[in-house]
Amino acid sequence: QLIHYTEQNVNDDKAHAIIVGGGLLALEAAKAVMDLGKFDSIKIVQLDGWLMGRQLDKRGGKLLEKKISKMGIKVECGLTTKSLIFNDDGHLSAVEYSNGTKERCDLICFAIGIVPRDNLARSCGLDVGPRGGVIVDNYMQTSDPDIYAIGECAAWKGRTYGLIAPGYAMADVLSFNLTQGEMHSLKAFAEPDTNTRLKLLGVDVAAFGDYFADTEGPKWLPKDCRKCGKGARALIYDNPIDEVYQKLIFTEDGRYLLGGILVGDNSKYPLLSALTKKRKPLAQEPGELIIGKQSGDDS
Ligand SMILES: Cc1cc2nc3c(=O)[nH]c(=O)nc-3n(C[C@H](O)[C@H](O)[C@H](O)COP(=O)(O)OP(=O)(O)OC[C@H]3O[C@@H](n4cnc5c(N)ncnc54)[C@H](O)[C@@H]3O)c2cc1C
Repeated sequence: QLIHYTEQNVNDDKAHAIIVGGGLLALEAAKAVMDLGKFDSIKIVQLDGWLMGRQLDKRGGKLLEKKISKMGIKVECGLTTKSLIFNDDGHLSAVEYSNGTKERCDLICFAIGIVPRDNLARSCGLDVGPRGGVIVDNYMQTSDPDIYAIGECAAWKGRTYGLIAPGYAMADVLSFNLTQGEMHSLKAFAEPDTNTRLKLLGVDVAAFGDYFADTEGPKWLPKDCRKCGKGARALIYDNPIDEVYQKLIFTEDGRYLLGGILVGDNSKYPLLSALTKKRKPLAQEPGELIIGKQSGDDS
């Protein structure tokens, strides 16, 4: 659609494209628009305070913004569109923003999230979540015990997921229970893998494990670990020279890696995400995972 619309309507060397939204798909869309090579300028407009707010904390999101801005894509946060303005030919010519300002616009792409398609469930009286989606329990069962739901239309603990991995995990639980449930104990759906590792507009970005454990509280803590504490602590490496940001989140005693955020360098992602998934005490000191092993020799 982006290609078709651009070919049909954009023939001006001052053409300006606007992408609304600051999540994964918005950044992918910005890249696709940039690759078309038909726009003089591209801008991402985002309501939240920073990019990729569902995966990154503020420092990570702001570093990503800085890197993307250097590529010539402008980013403006805390703003959204109020109305679209069309010229006499019926072509899009400008947008008006929530703050009342107007800007030329030759193409606009909205990437502002998904709404679960739950109208069939609503029409047959199944319970749906306050933010949409067919409510399911840990076995993917809806409010009618003969009906199950999986994938993006299902709301588990009030949440719907816009990623493939949680949908596959739901399918795995349901197919096992339907085919093997009579012979084995039932499989239950648990916190799904929402790990993200991408090169967005050439910038390494990753979020793995429980990547908001330090600010929102850990979703998992080791059982019978008295020294672990109930919270989480973050170790941060913020290098403005190489533009690398790494945040690793540990149990309070530093023995377990719970999750983390990486911007600018994903090279440690395989090791770090594997350590997080293992849920075992670390063999190394937390600091070693960021700056490597120190020799202790000052001479
Ligand atoms: C542009 C884009 C890029 C993406 N990139 C990624 C990515 O890189 N990584 C990632 O993990 N996820 C990505 N996603 C998200 C991923 O595609 C979805 O999470 C996944 O497709 C959800 O699977 P699903 O089967 O639940 O729903 P869908 O894939 O949407 O399939 C639902 C199907 O049900 C059909 N349907 C709907 N209502 C009815 C009805 N009443 N009767 C019969 N059929 C019906 C629809 O036509 C459709 O075929 C991306 C999504 C988009 C839009």
